[in-house]
Amino acid sequence: MSDLYLEVNLHNLYYNISRLKQIIDKNTLIMAVVKSNAYGHGSVEISKALKDDVDYLGVGFLEEGVLLRQNKVELPILLMGPTINFEVAYINDITLSITSVEQLEQLVSWTNINEKIIKFHLKVDTGMNRFGIKEDDLEIVSRIYDNSKYAKLEGVYSHFATTYKNNKSYVIKQKNLFDKYVEYFRNRYNDLIYHLANSENAIDFKDAHYDMVRIGNALYGPSNSKTRIGLKDIGKLKARVIYSRKVKTGEYIGYGNSYRAKKDMIVGTIPFGFYEGMGLMKKPIGSKFLSYLIYYLKEIYRYLFRTKTIVYYKGQPLDVLGKPNMQYTIIDMSHINQKNKDDILVQVRVSPIFIKESVERKYVTEV
Ligand SMILES: *Cc1c(COP(=O)(O)O)cnc(C)c1O
Repeated sequence: MSDLYLEVNLHNLYYNISRLKQIIDKNTLIMAVVKSNAYGHGSVEISKALKDDVDYLGVGFLEEGVLLRQNKVELPILLMGPTINFEVAYINDITLSITSVEQLEQLVSWTNINEKIIKFHLKVDTGMNRFGIKEDDLEIVSRIYDNSKYAKLEGVYSHFATTYKNNKSYVIKQKNLFDKYVEYFRNRYNDLIYHLANSENAIDFKDAHYDMVRIGNALYGPSNSKTRIGLKDIGKLKARVIYSRKVKTGEYIGYGNSYRAKKDMIVGTIPFGFYEGMGLMKKPIGSKFLSYLIYYLKEIYRYLFRTKTIVYYKGQPLDVLGKPNMQYTIIDMSHINQKNKDDILVQVRVSPIFIKESVERKYVTEV
């Protein structure tokens, strides 16, 4: 039995997708975004688990798509970032995103020379300014595309820079701009897939659904949307206490004498340190002032008291003593009512995104 693993509950994954399907029309396609190793949960297993529930998979890097194909994942895959490695995309049947005029020229020329069909979606910029074709480029884009025999335009999309919850007016502005692109392409080409919304905006802003929604974080746990739809975390980090000992009042614990026992206590060590992702926290991004305030107050509290109650045993919080080490963390087990304290599994609340890939992912299906 391993002493450290991320337990991924596929039952909760199916539960989340069923909740999402209650707010997404039957004829709207669903893309599961499985970039960054499915937000840390394991992209191959998550993609396979979702094979009958979603229509498309989304990845950020070409290598992530290749990994899925090597592991016999068959769903269509959209690479959402740019690449000019057309050969690899072709061999692995990965749909590309075209994000600039130059990249489109290169794609058309490669496919024409090699006489190979590659499908692509055009990524248009509506205000994020990361990747994407601008409105001014539309005429030249159609001109280049109309000369293409083998590159096939399948969809047009854009990405929100913020959420309906946090900045409604910017989201609406982006949607209105997207509508202009939609109109432009609908007048020229048939049957394209238009898509715009990520998790939060798919949940809160139905008008942004178009033909497909791209769902990332909502698959894996509660999303930061305004409307709560009862999503559940699917990943839990479990660590076994591999060693425990008694410590007397006044003794120091850990590196740098950073903690001194105020009373006799029992401490335990778990094999999870900052190398594996211990102590990393997600900051609220693009959130309201209040969430920032709460976040920083918590940070100050943690700094002052040097405690991080993010380790739990049967729902009971356990203090982290001193600073986490490279591979170990020491926790206070004085209050645990159990004889053999060495064989206890605790849960560490940490975002799976931060958990090193070397930590085993265990898939369970029970409730
Ligand atoms: C990551 C990503 C998503 C998914 O975002 P969530 O907010 O996690 O749902 C959708 N679209 C693009 C282009 C992305 O990069």
